[in-house]
Amino acid sequence: MEDTAEKVLEHIRKLLRDYKIPDLEAELADYPLLRQIHDELKTIREVLLSFSAGDFSPVITIRGIIPGCLKALQAHLRHLIWQVQMVEKGDFTQEVRFMGEFSTAFNNMVRQLNYSLTALRQKEEALITLNDELRSEVAHRNSAVEALQKSEARFKFLASHDPLTGIFNRQSFIDRATMDLKEAARFSIPCCLALMDIDHFKQFNDTYGHLAGDETLRHVVKVISSGLRKNDFLGRYGGEEFIIFFSRIDKSSGLTVVERLRKILSETPMAMENGLVPVYASFGVVENSMETFTEDGEYVKKLISDADTALYAAKRGGRNRVILYNPEQAKEFAGQIPVIRDVGET
Ligand code: GH3
Ligand code: MG
Ligand code: MG
Repeated sequence: MEDTAEKVLEHIRKLLRDYKIPDLEAELADYPLLRQIHDELKTIREVLLSFSAGDFSPVITIRGIIPGCLKALQAHLRHLIWQVQMVEKGDFTQEVRFMGEFSTAFNNMVRQLNYSLTALRQKEEALITLNDELRSEVAHRNSAVEALQKSEARFKFLASHDPLTGIFNRQSFIDRATMDLKEAARFSIPCCLALMDIDHFKQFNDTYGHLAGDETLRHVVKVISSGLRKNDFLGRYGGEEFIIFFSRIDKSSGLTVVERLRKILSETPMAMENGLVPVYASFGVVENSMETFTEDGEYVKKLISDADTALYAAKRGGRNRVILYNPEQAKEFAGQIPVIRDVGET
């Protein structure tokens, strides 16, 4: 009996201490209580082994103080794992209450994390707002710059162009013509200048109205411009008078070109509400002269004045025609031609 007790104690000792689970000897197998103790200790060992390996999943079915404590520890640790997962998902309300110093440290860490994240989010929001404000400020400034550039370009354009028709105004025409005449004189290249005046335009205005008159001026510019070569240019001299510069062309070819323009204009009527209305114009043409050329702006004025004389002859001759300037006209119409307006007037 004493021997058996010794064996039982030895078996329990092995169960408690050995890594390998001892087999229950045949001689001891007849003691049901010992078998129960053997089985329970075996289960407790397996649970502890799982725990030590980080696996808290085993289902503990046996009762008693030790399995009870293991179950409680298992429940706490599984809850803690769940809490950490919740924190990971952004739930900073989790608090650990069962692990002393760990609980304090964990709870502080979660609070700190919550605080830092809130501060970061606030900073992010502030940055987003600031970024939006900056973007709209930049857009605002860009559109202001764009508007400024547009108005500057418009201002520059208006300073040198006629607002109604978009062609050169008188001064820009004279400036550009002066440059081209200088160049032509330097290389002895012939070129022509034509002054054009719409026939009976006052009557046109009186019949169809001033707005229709404006539309007609645009129509005339469109038709004449479409018949010009690349280096020729057109300007509004004033009212219903236009001036054209023809580069690299002598008076006989100039006459032909201007005659062609007159014909095109006379064959391209204005489309009015009541039907098509023809528009006619008279032209005076003059060729540059190498002999009388002077470098100053007076030369171009002289050419314009001569073209005006020829234009007067065209009006006198019945209108809707082209007349080339010759000095005889100046003598013939002396004192009759209305004084040409000074440069600068419109
Ligand atoms: P002529 O054949 O002798 O040139 O006769 P005309 O009626 O064309 O000449 P006149 O100088 O008597 O009249 C010119 C008219 O041109 C008078 C003026 O009202 C008109 N006119 C001048 N500038 C403009 C303008 O910008 N728009 C309009 N609609 N009419 C203008
Ligand atoms: Mg006129
Ligand atoms: Mg006229």
